[in-house]
Amino acid sequence: MTTRTPLMAGNWKMNLDWKQGLALVEDLGDALKGLDTSAVEAVVLPPAVDLRTVQTAVDAGKLPIAYGAQDISEHESGAYTGEISGAMLTALGATYVAVGHSERRQYHGETEQVTNAKVKAAFAAGLTPILCVGEALDERKAGKQVEFSLAQVEGGLEGLDAEQVARTVIAYEPVWAIGTGEVATPDDAQEVCAAIREWVRTVHGDTAADAVRVLYGGSVKSSNVAELMQRPDVDGALVGGASLKADEFAKIVRFQD
Ligand code: PEP
Repeated sequence: MTTRTPLMAGNWKMNLDWKQGLALVEDLGDALKGLDTSAVEAVVLPPAVDLRTVQTAVDAGKLPIAYGAQDISEHESGAYTGEISGAMLTALGATYVAVGHSERRQYHGETEQVTNAKVKAAFAAGLTPILCVGEALDERKAGKQVEFSLAQVEGGLEGLDAEQVARTVIAYEPVWAIGTGEVATPDDAQEVCAAIREWVRTVHGDTAADAVRVLYGGSVKSSNVAELMQRPDVDGALVGGASLKADEFAKIVRFQD
């Protein structure tokens, strides 16, 4: 049985210019002082323009975290105005990238094929993808949350081998719980996270299933994180709004109130 290191990731979304990002990074450095990085992995996903700021703090030993981007181009390089390649991210020391976030799917029309191409682009660049999946309220009301989320997992991981799947992070983020204050109950989170792991077990085997980290995301706060983390198939959290406050995010990283 593999023991999985919990992973707590903060998605800053389109918030904080570089000066504000620098202020958060400094506060976060203080708030995370002494963090036992063998017991939990903390990650931030700032806007791309803030990555260099985070890199500087991490390289100076001021911030015990990993970092990554919120999106990646499916292309390697070339005439793709506005896009950022995997190689550009790794050159900044990034190790993670979110792929298929519901806001990318909803506002930028990212299809299953695009999401899958981005997961592959992440691996090609040596980045760990955080593949986001999750149902909207209509599917939840129809009791189709597992079926819907697994279809997105299957689409996102299409063509990957078991070793790559083992290294992927999958974030179950019910769309109705993102930024709404409406958190899924720990049992709701466990139901879908467990189903995702079972899907990995069936398709890619025990080693991948025991290694793959499955996160919950959607209105996670320091007041609800501990209970979520008690569920056996919840290996961490993807945190939006609450990751913008250093003390709050630091509490979430330690899963304490
Ligand atoms: C997210 O955007 O991934 C997210 C979970 O946001 P929030 O924590 O604000 O619901």
